[in-house]
Amino acid sequence: MTVAGRIGRGRFVSFELWPPRSAESAAALEDALEGLAALRPAFVAITYGAGGSTRERTHELVARLAGTELLPLAHLTCAAHGRDELAALLSRYLEAGVRDLLALHGDPPLASDAALPEGDLRYAIELVALAREVGFPSVGVAVHPEGHPAAPSRASDLVWQADKLRAADFGLTQFLHRASDYARFVDGVGVDTPVVPGVMPITNVRQLERMAAMSGTEVPLALATRLHAVADRPDEVRRIGVEHATQLCRDLLDAGAPGLHFYTMNRAAATLEVCANLGFEPVTSGA
Ligand SMILES: Cc1cc2nc3c(=O)[nH]c(=O)nc-3n(C[C@H](O)[C@H](O)[C@H](O)COP(=O)(O)OP(=O)(O)OC[C@H]3O[C@@H](n4cnc5c(N)ncnc54)[C@H](O)[C@@H]3O)c2cc1C
Repeated sequence: MTVAGRIGRGRFVSFELWPPRSAESAAALEDALEGLAALRPAFVAITYGAGGSTRERTHELVARLAGTELLPLAHLTCAAHGRDELAALLSRYLEAGVRDLLALHGDPPLASDAALPEGDLRYAIELVALAREVGFPSVGVAVHPEGHPAAPSRASDLVWQADKLRAADFGLTQFLHRASDYARFVDGVGVDTPVVPGVMPITNVRQLERMAAMSGTEVPLALATRLHAVADRPDEVRRIGVEHATQLCRDLLDAGAPGLHFYTMNRAAATLEVCANLGFEPVTSGA
């Protein structure tokens, strides 16, 4: 079963994780994996460092999970490598039994025409095509419901996102805070490819603001006001974050989302709470 196949099989949850940098973060990841695995996620997405910085660590984690009940979705960014290098990385994944790719540009800014060697890939949609050529059966793309922050206009961005979704098997969105942004995007883009919304339960105000600025995601004023009022009380921030994420997930499912993709920041607790509020029950081993 591929990620594309699992997305079509009813309501699900999935999780984003990043490869650990140190022994300490490796231990935190193992804890998170153990907690999250009990929810039987449809897949777990493993990020790829901007510029290729996690190349080996991402491969190692994805290849390890490929032999377990957790279906890994390997992120790969075309900004980090030339075409031949990307083709080699893709082939290496196929040899390791990995069938699912999230084809991305990556966080570095777009290269100018002059800076891009001939034949190299400029946009994520070109990595989708390369992954198909190499033989990947299941390829997803990043979706930006509020528009990509660097796009020259919302209108052209929507056209490019529609083209990219048509070329892919599924889309995963940037994390968002309003279900209406998801619903408006899905209506506006007018493509049948399933789009799974991303949710990041808020546990820390400063981190939320930094990530929102990077991704172009707006934090609704009412939510920002509530969070700022308790910014020096971590337990209250977390309580509001979980409450908001729970309602957001309900609204997203009501709006027709096929499932929910959680940005976990390699921590299980807040995501597990939201999932419990939604009725996704952990399965104990042997069940
Ligand atoms: C679910 C998800 C997971 C992510 N995981 C990672 C990760 O693991 N590692 C990482 O580094 N980053 C990750 N990102 C961030 C992502 O790489 C950035 O948002 C990046 O700036 C855009 O990536 P993209 O794949 O959407 O790029 P693209 O689709 O290539 O778009 C990049 C820019 O080019 C523009 N564009 C697209 N097509 C055209 C065209 N034909 N002509 C002119 N302009 C065009 C777009 O409007 C946009 O401004 C992730 C984002 C999401 C939503």
